[in-house]
Formats: sequence, C-alpha cells, structure tokens
Amino acid sequence: TLFTACSEPTATSAPASNESTEVAAEVEKPIKIGISLPTQREERWVLDKENFERVAEELGVEVAVQIADNDAARQQSQCENLISQGVDVLIIAPHDGAAAANIVNMAHEAGIKVISYDRLIMNSPVDLYLTFDSLIVGEMQAEWVLSQAPTGNIALLAGDPGDYAAVLYRQGALNVLQPKIDSGDITLVLDQECKDWQPSEALRHIENVLTVHNNDIQGIVAPNDGTAGAAIQALAAQGLAGKVPVSGQDAEVDAIKRIIEGTQGITIFNDIRDLGRAAIESAIKFANNEPVETKKSYNNGTHDIPTIEAPPALVDINNYLELVIESGFMDESALQ
Ligand code: BGC
Repeated sequence: TLFTACSEPTATSAPASNESTEVAAEVEKPIKIGISLPTQREERWVLDKENFERVAEELGVEVAVQIADNDAARQQSQCENLISQGVDVLIIAPHDGAAAANIVNMAHEAGIKVISYDRLIMNSPVDLYLTFDSLIVGEMQAEWVLSQAPTGNIALLAGDPGDYAAVLYRQGALNVLQPKIDSGDITLVLDQECKDWQPSEALRHIENVLTVHNNDIQGIVAPNDGTAGAAIQALAAQGLAGKVPVSGQDAEVDAIKRIIEGTQGITIFNDIRDLGRAAIESAIKFANNEPVETKKSYNNGTHDIPTIEAPPALVDINNYLELVIESGFMDESALQ
C-alpha cells in the first residue's frame, strides 16, 4: 500500500481535483525505493541485498528488490515492473551497462530518478553513480601481482565486458602492467574476459594458458574472488596452487580461507555496508527533491554523471583480521 492508514483509501483513485488533499496524501506516503541487482551468484550481491534491506528498515523507507540473474532483458522487465509499482527512486546495478540506458529513459519518463550502483549505466542521463574507485582496484591487483612476480609470464583475467566496472578493473591493471610489458620485464600471455563473470570461463582460460605455456606462468591478475577461485583450481590441478600469486576482489568467505591457506595472495575489500547506506540515503534525498552532493563525475559516453566514490582496501594475510573480521564485515565463525 502506498498510503498510510490515516489517509482516505479513496485518495488513490480520486482524480487530482482537490490539490490540498493530494499534497497531504503525498506527505503521508512512505518512500519506496526500487532496487535491481544483477545476480546473487557472488556473495557480495547477497550481502548488498541484505544491507539495502537493513538500512532501509533502519531509515524507515520501503524497498522492493529484484534480481536479474545476469539477464539484461529480465532486468529491464523487472525495472518496468518497479516503475509501474510507483517506486520513488530506482537503484540499479546493471547486468549490461549499455542495455540499461533504456531503463534510465523509461524511469525518467515516469519522473523517477536513477542511481547507478557499483556498475555505471552507459550513454544516458543517470542521476547519480555510487562506486568504489574501480581503476584503483585494478591497479592494486596488478601492483600486488608484480610485487610477487616482477618478471616472467603474467595472465590477466577480466570480468564481463558489458560491466563497465570490469572494463575499469582491466584498465587499471593494464595501467600498471603496460610499462613492464613495454620494458620486456613481463610478457602478458593472457588477456581474456570472462562472460557474465563466470568462474567456469576463468577456469577454461587458465587451464589453456597453463597448457600452452607448459605451466610457465608467474602470476595471475584475477579481477574478483570468483574468478580467482577458478584460477586457483586450475593451478591446483597442476600442483601449482600457492606457488603462483593470484589476486582477487570482494573479500568472500572462500577467498579469506584461501588467503589463510596461502593459495590466494590478496583480495580487495570494498565495504559495501557504507556504499549501500550512501545509496539509500541518496535515494531518500532524491525522493524528497533534495540535492545530493558529489565531488567527482564519470563520463558514461554521453553525460558526466555525478559520482560518489569510496576507497577500496587491499586485504592480505597480515590485515584480514582487522579489516574483515574486527570491522564486523564477516563473522570469524564463517572461516571455520
Ligand atoms: C563487482 C564485483 C563483483 C562482480 C561480479 C562487479 O561489478 O564490482 O565486486 O565480483 O561484479 O559480480
């Protein structure tokens, strides 16, 4: 129900003849935020969903969450549905950043502002973008791999090409790798995308590169923990797990376990609790027609999108307890 108990039930169907009644009813209406997430396969999106729901409850707003299961058409129809439900604001983490431009246009036609969450929606006048600094994520991953493997054959995995965050992670990694490629210190023996961020794609790519190069691989830049786990599985099959440095991202439970056992060197910890809270707070401001302050913008092809950016943190064996456990992000019992 869009109206609270004290407003006239007929107000929903009454024509807009009596303006003061309309305005009074508007004030009573609880804010409803539509949230469209790409998947629940990676643990982080499960935590994102829980976090959105927790923060919304705390701040007294309603949320309706839809999961697109890595399907751009499904994401569009789910968002159409949220728009027709009359949500006040949409928060979208697009499966396909280019395809989601349609959703922005439809939402705007209905007077609904759109917040792009973690992944940028391309070529459209998105109202706000909230993200971790994705270039820095890629740079940190590659810098760490090079710190362990300053010379030799390096493999670079990338996420889904339709995910602009994946494009930026790869770009950040290449910013660091390219000078070493140019100087001849390293050879980039693999530069492959993993469709839909599928670990099975990462597994296939790393199995192939190990075969082609007779296991002569010194480091693997993996963009997230899902692809890192698959890369480590391929290494383990050759007795190389723990011998070849592998990066990751998301601070998943399995990744922290691998860091403890020594098969994965680092993960990047993005505290989605803060980013999710900032997204809900921004949505509330938009719903109340208040401005959201930003210090930065990202060009999405056609528009400079006001951006709120949060810092990523590198997690390794030395600081996981402090950053991931003591911060309350993960319960230590999950690691048993
Ligand atoms: C996110 C990562 C996540 C990946 C796969 C990216 O857009 O930034 O945290 O691992 O999607 O879901």
